[in-house]
Amino acid sequence: MSHTVVVVAADHAQLAHACELAVSAGGPPVIVLAGTRDTLAEIGGAPAERIVFVERASDVPVEALAGDGAAAVADLHPALVLAPDRSADRILLGACAAALDAPMITGVDTIAVADGHPVITRVLCGGIATEDLTGDGALALLVDGGAALPPGEGVPVQEVPANPLGLTLSSESPAPHDHVELGSAAKVVAIGRGLRSGADMALVEDLAGALGAEVACSRPLAEGLDWLPRDRYIGVSGQDVTPGLYLALGISGQLQHTCGMRGSGTVVVVNTDESAPFFAECDYGIVGDLYAVVPALTRALAGATT
Ligand SMILES: Cc1cc2nc3c(=O)[nH]c(=O)nc-3n(C[C@H](O)[C@H](O)[C@H](O)COP(=O)(O)OP(=O)(O)OC[C@H]3O[C@@H](n4cnc5c(N)ncnc54)[C@H](O)[C@@H]3O)c2cc1C
Repeated sequence: MSHTVVVVAADHAQLAHACELAVSAGGPPVIVLAGTRDTLAEIGGAPAERIVFVERASDVPVEALAGDGAAAVADLHPALVLAPDRSADRILLGACAAALDAPMITGVDTIAVADGHPVITRVLCGGIATEDLTGDGALALLVDGGAALPPGEGVPVQEVPANPLGLTLSSESPAPHDHVELGSAAKVVAIGRGLRSGADMALVEDLAGALGAEVACSRPLAEGLDWLPRDRYIGVSGQDVTPGLYLALGISGQLQHTCGMRGSGTVVVVNTDESAPFFAECDYGIVGDLYAVVPALTRALAGATT
């Protein structure tokens, strides 16, 4: 396929899927990075032909550099511009779409080619359906999900000057908790409304600790009950995860949740209700009370490592 493919990004998070799609659509892409020098070091092993680097100083918000990033992309005359679906990358892709006079397509999952034209498959309504769009002219594609790129080096870098607009970061307050990128977690233990009290989170944390897993949850635990931070919930309005193991405890398995974990490897569900929808989507199901099953699993794992 002869399309020129460019990936535009502000940092390295979730860049792996955009790069994979770019490679499948036209071979190693050019990555236009409107980011910091630290991020440049992190993506030095990307599957890319080269990196065009527009340096973003730490006190310059990405909004001030979107025009520079878009100009660097437009200079490459790409047929396809891909970006991960993150807030900073959405800003960049929007500017690219405007500069290229290209339609911007969200939720992109795969790219194929038919009769020399790209066929974009995108996910609708959190995974209920997909639709195909056939392109004719430049397209700006917001790519669904994906992990960070693994570290590496060796990709040639071409620096272009930055002329940021007049916008400066004047102060920053850290969130009361550390932000977690669940997208790259190898194992996830997710808890739902089957938990009776926030104080019982210790049960879940002990199991996650024994497994070496990240703790996640369904939305009500993070929005409403506030037992976990908002960046810990999985689903259509939360994070996407693709761990090798997804252990769901006391989660019913509503579509809005499961569409965020469908790329998981082995799925294990613990629920007292044998008719819970999650049982239809798991590899192993335990019909049981999490208050009995979770401590037993934790003990068994502790026994297995001593
Ligand atoms: C627009 C929109 C967006 C949404 N986005 C998201 C999203 O991104 N992520 C998300 O998660 N949800 C989302 N939701 C909410 C979603 O529809 C569900 O309401 C939510 O996922 C349910 O959470 P839950 O499974 O923890 O709770 P419930 O549905 O109440 O299920 C609790 C489960 O625990 C089981 N249980 C109870 N006690 C025990 C026990 N002792 N041991 C074992 N099992 C037990 C019950 O049998 C039940 O199946 C969204 C909803 C809307 C309308």
